[in-house]
Amino acid sequence: MRIAILTSGGDAPGMNASIRSSVRVAKSLNWTVFGVRRGYRGLIYGELDEMGSRSVSNIIQRGGTILRASRCKEFETEEGLLQAKRTLEAYGIQGLIVIGGDGSFRGAVALSKVWEGQIVGVPGTIDNDLWGTDYTIGFDTAINTAVEAIDKIRDTAEAQERYFLVEVMGREAGFIALEAGLSGGAEEVMVPEIHTDLPEIHKRLMQGKQRGKTSSILIVAEGNQEGNAFEIANKLKTLCGSDYRVVVLGHIQRGGSPTARDRILATKLGAYAVDVLAEGKATVMVGEVKNELITTPLEQTWSMKKPLDPYLLRLNMVLET
Ligand code: ADP
Repeated sequence: MRIAILTSGGDAPGMNASIRSSVRVAKSLNWTVFGVRRGYRGLIYGELDEMGSRSVSNIIQRGGTILRASRCKEFETEEGLLQAKRTLEAYGIQGLIVIGGDGSFRGAVALSKVWEGQIVGVPGTIDNDLWGTDYTIGFDTAINTAVEAIDKIRDTAEAQERYFLVEVMGREAGFIALEAGLSGGAEEVMVPEIHTDLPEIHKRLMQGKQRGKTSSILIVAEGNQEGNAFEIANKLKTLCGSDYRVVVLGHIQRGGSPTARDRILATKLGAYAVDVLAEGKATVMVGEVKNELITTPLEQTWSMKKPLDPYLLRLNMVLET
């Protein structure tokens, strides 16, 4: 079989481990493997290089993606999709592995409408916002990076007796905020999935103060309905007069060497993507749910909304008191 692999959209730590695993498993089956540079852009412009087991040496520990990733507007047009199809046909590609998030999977479904080969998605995004897998590749590294930052901020918050608002990534989902907040012992976690009641938060913080708390760390997910961390800090200042220092963690959450957990997940899913191609399946995402490797139709990965763990949410409410 002749296959191609690409990474698309926002990069995530562990994408390299996934590429490595797919390449080596495919080579063990004597398949021909191509790496596509810069995601869908590379499909349009014919940027494909043949890969062997040695081309993925020494990358399991590296963040980012050796194939590079990009956002590509042209791919969202009929002509772009047809050009990508022509490239795939010119290289005789029968199977395509797309490592990315929901945007990349929307692109994969659009491509599947014009190209006859098999497409398998691998969930690579720090946001963890895909249905069909308990965790996405990159999420564990991202929350560990966020927790390391929160721990450092707590040192100064406590020393200076201050309130801090820390904004984390996650787009429309609160997975990073909830798990980083719980692990970092945050006083409040504001996620997009749940209405943020600022007067209520203010009340709880004041109660905490009465119980002897001299500093607090509030985590805000970037997609919060009340606005970004600066806007929330302003609203809280208007409400209660207290000053909140704002820290936006930003892109540091995307980088760095993947954790062991992300490397293992990426290794399993990269290998499973090849198995799934060998089985003849198409237009599905590979994922791990309750320790079992499964496939989910690509459309479902974004049309179904993965909920935040209600137990963790309840626990967070109790522990923050
Ligand atoms: P992520 O995969 O991280 O969610 P994006 O949302 O940026 O990333 O999407 C990555 C790329 O997928 C886009 O730049 C575009 O090339 C492609 N894409 C997204 N949606 C579509 C679509 N509806 N049709 C075709 N291509 C799409």
